[in-house]
Amino acid sequence: MNLSKRFLVKPGKKVRLKDRDPEDSAGYGKKDRAKVEKLTEQNIRRLDELQYLLYAENRRSLLIVLQAMDAAGKDGTIRHVIRGLNPQGCTVTSFKKPSDEELDHDFLWRIHKAVPNKGDIGIFNRSHYEDVLVVRVHELVPKDVWAARYEQINRFEELLAENNVVIVKFFLHISKDEQLERFQDRLKDKDKHWKISPSDFGERKYWKEYQRAYEDALEKCSTKHAPWYVIPSNRKWFRNLAVSQILVETLESLQMSFPKPAFDISKIKVE
Ligand code: AMP
Ligand code: MG
Repeated sequence: MNLSKRFLVKPGKKVRLKDRDPEDSAGYGKKDRAKVEKLTEQNIRRLDELQYLLYAENRRSLLIVLQAMDAAGKDGTIRHVIRGLNPQGCTVTSFKKPSDEELDHDFLWRIHKAVPNKGDIGIFNRSHYEDVLVVRVHELVPKDVWAARYEQINRFEELLAENNVVIVKFFLHISKDEQLERFQDRLKDKDKHWKISPSDFGERKYWKEYQRAYEDALEKCSTKHAPWYVIPSNRKWFRNLAVSQILVETLESLQMSFPKPAFDISKIKVE
């Protein structure tokens, strides 16, 4: 099954998150969990081969953007899907509240610096999209400033794509109830207390505003060169399958091949 097609936000199409079921698991039920985990393993092994090719080609890079509400599984996705990759050739960047120095530049300055080198895979745990999400919801800048950013983001991503950066963006979609359950699990489990911040609960008041802000970002910024995928993420095992598979499908579509040596291999003497 082609999951890229299923979860793609078609460029120019209206996005209503209410119409996208966070429980969706493309026909796999709870009883299929073991099978789905096996498929995910296969994808992870295939990703390792594809990463090797990307590295050998040294022509382009892959940028993976992860965005989601709190507890939706950004960290979990990195832990479970990205773990199969070779750390040499892979960078993860987590974007927090901008520093004073970062705020003294345009919002894309810190982002551009973290774009992966040719041959590498870069993962953004949060990204420039925070500047049209938390910044919009909490009115950290005036409306005309954040409203102009969708177009600025599109132009920036286009520039990257024209310079051989392959971009894939995932929105991990969970329901408000699922988030509450996960927060409650964290409260119950001492080993998870470090993950809790009092503001997590406060942010739930803004759920609707966040969903609206996400809809706008998905709708305005899903483009051919930098598509958004909405990944149903209430079921972690399915989320891992979907993300791993879309990554495989994306890299396979590049039809990469090992570069030819610049010299005649038959003339090399092994003595
Ligand atoms: P965490 O990912 O849980 O470590 O939290 C990082 C925090 O940084 C989140 O609350 C984000 O909303 C916040 N953050 C990330 N980027 C920005 C930004 N551009 N402006 C304001 N807050 C941000
Ligand atoms: Mg967090």
